[in-house]
Amino acid sequence: MTCEKVLASGLVEKIGEGESYLTHKIITEDGEDQKIIKGRIADHYEGLMQVVNLLIHPEYGVVKDKAEISLIGHRVVHGGESFKAPTIINKEVIAKIRNMIPLAPLHNPSNLAGIEIARSMFPDAQQVAIFDTAFHQTIPKKAYIYAIPYYLYKKHGVRRYGFHGTSHSYVSEKASEYLNRSLSGLNVITIHLGNGASMAALKNGKCVDTSMGMTPLEGLVMGTRAGDIDPAIPFFLSNHLKMSLDEIDNLLNKESGLKGICGINDMREVLEKSRSGDEMARLALDVYTYRIKKYIGAYYAVLGGLDILIFTGGIGENSSVIRASCCHGLNKLGIEIDAKKNNLSRGEVWEISISNSEAKVLVVQTDEELKIARETKRVMKNIAPIKHLKKI
Ligand code: ADP
Repeated sequence: MTCEKVLASGLVEKIGEGESYLTHKIITEDGEDQKIIKGRIADHYEGLMQVVNLLIHPEYGVVKDKAEISLIGHRVVHGGESFKAPTIINKEVIAKIRNMIPLAPLHNPSNLAGIEIARSMFPDAQQVAIFDTAFHQTIPKKAYIYAIPYYLYKKHGVRRYGFHGTSHSYVSEKASEYLNRSLSGLNVITIHLGNGASMAALKNGKCVDTSMGMTPLEGLVMGTRAGDIDPAIPFFLSNHLKMSLDEIDNLLNKESGLKGICGINDMREVLEKSRSGDEMARLALDVYTYRIKKYIGAYYAVLGGLDILIFTGGIGENSSVIRASCCHGLNKLGIEIDAKKNNLSRGEVWEISISNSEAKVLVVQTDEELKIARETKRVMKNIAPIKHLKKI
């Protein structure tokens, strides 16, 4: 029988550093049992091998034999224009993901390592790639072409791609189920606020614009990424401050965003500092929510109206303060939050707009692993029978 129960989940952190962490969580009827293993994990191969050993461990394991795993879904960050849907992995697919490395130098190499390792460890399992960019491939040309010389797009693929596609797609489907309304005919804005953050505008369930660009650096203010800035700022940093390209890259990706303004990238801590009167934390929150509000306005105009506004991601799901601040003063756009509902957390999906608000405002818990598992199963349904879907 097929079920969508999570048997185990895990995380390997600080691979290749002095001390790495492997978190292995087993989920049973009686609750969760978490095991954290500390010690050096030299590379991704060793990390995944330890994960697999725990999965089949007589005491901590959830499967008897790794041969029980028949399907593996891989999250791949950049699929460029080649991949518009989940794809069964073969040699050509691997080669295309490799060709995309210049577009995602930080992510695609480790995604490929994961695929290669899983293929060698599970030679009999079918493997599927789910691309972060695929959901955004419906964006029209006017929204994905940058106003720079056109050959850069034609010859080198410089265009908007967008990311977090799995999450934007999952939460919009979840909202449609919750409201019992088909996405066709609806205008939806999805706001994913995690460590990375992005928004998408959806018409009839299809993405028509999104805030991240050729890379995940564009758009909203994030934990450590700047989001939108004047593109001439890097020239200033180089010409006047003599910073190298690597230093500018590091500054915009790792030292900016919330961290750049107030020194902290974790939203819980920023909120805490702001509550205790820290001016810079307050400023960081103002810049953060102002940017989101500007994008809500822009996407309202793009869509020509709004039916559903969705908050998701660690911040979107958990911070009523951020949600209220992003929506403050938008009643002319039909967006009005009920303060009481906004402060109540109620399961996987809940509505926080006032009862006669023109646009429904929902909080939806995202579940990218479940979406990846579902898509993997959907692609493979005629090829391999499966017993369980695992969130690993
Ligand atoms: P990732 O993008 O890495 O998946 P998450 O979606 O888990 O990250 O989001 C992480 C962010 O969510 C962090 O900035 C964290 O502080 C924030 N967050 C988690 N819980 C809360 C909370 N209760 N209130 C405000 N922010 C929260």
